[in-house]
Order: sequence, then C-alpha cells, then structure tokens
Amino acid sequence: MSDCVFCKILNKEIPSTFIYEDDVCFAINDINPKAKKHILVIPKIHVESLNEVEDLSLIKDLFSAIKKINKQEGIKEFKTLINTGKKAGQEVFHLHIHILSD
Ligand code: AMP
Ligand code: ZN
Repeated sequence: MSDCVFCKILNKEIPSTFIYEDDVCFAINDINPKAKKHILVIPKIHVESLNEVEDLSLIKDLFSAIKKINKQEGIKEFKTLINTGKKAGQEVFHLHIHILSD
C-alpha cells in the first residue's frame, strides 16, 4: 500500500534495519521503544489489522518467526502485543506484533 509506513520500510522507501526476514515477514526495532527491547514483527503483505486476516496460517507464521527472533536476540521472557483498532491504540494500520522485553 503506497501510503503505509511499514510497506514503505519493506520497499526501502524509508530506511530501517531488518533484524530478521523470511518469506512471510520481517522484523525491525521500534523507533519509539517502550521496553529495553521492543521489536515489531511485520507481515510482508499489507493487512490492516487482525480483523482483516483471513488465512490464519499467517498468524502461525508470525509466531514461528517470533520464536526464531527471540532465539536470535536471546529473549526468553517477553510480552507480545497486537493493537487492533484506533481505540485499542493502533497507530499503524498494517498488522504487526510487538515483542517487548527487559
Ligand atoms: P501500534 O500502536 O500498535 O500501531 O504500533 C505502531 C508502532 O510502530 C509504534 O510503537 C511506533 O513507535 C512504531 N513505528 C512507527 N514508525 C516506525 C518506523 N519508521 N520504524 C520503526 N517503528 C515505527
Ligand atoms: Zn502496509
């Protein structure tokens, strides 16, 4: 999607460092971290939110990536968070899973 910050990062229109990438998703450090480690796991396809996910295998793939990222980053204790909708605090309307760890 042309006006989406995460699509722009994926398309290298906005500079960012990928800490992980596979066929389905990529991961970056949050620009405004709310914990010592704050990582965003982002599917490569543009899906606005969890409400728009039709094929739930995407969620399995994202959590499979989270396990790999955590292993890579040495993260053992963590929170995952998905904000869905403005009132729930979603700011970027391209699905993403937060990993938060101290
Ligand atoms: P949410 O509130 O769940 O939509 O989370 C969006 C997150 O994206 C926020 O924690 C922002 O700090 C983060 N964010 C926005 N723009 C960027 C960017 N260019 N690079 C990394 N993180 C970003
Ligand atoms: Zn997008």
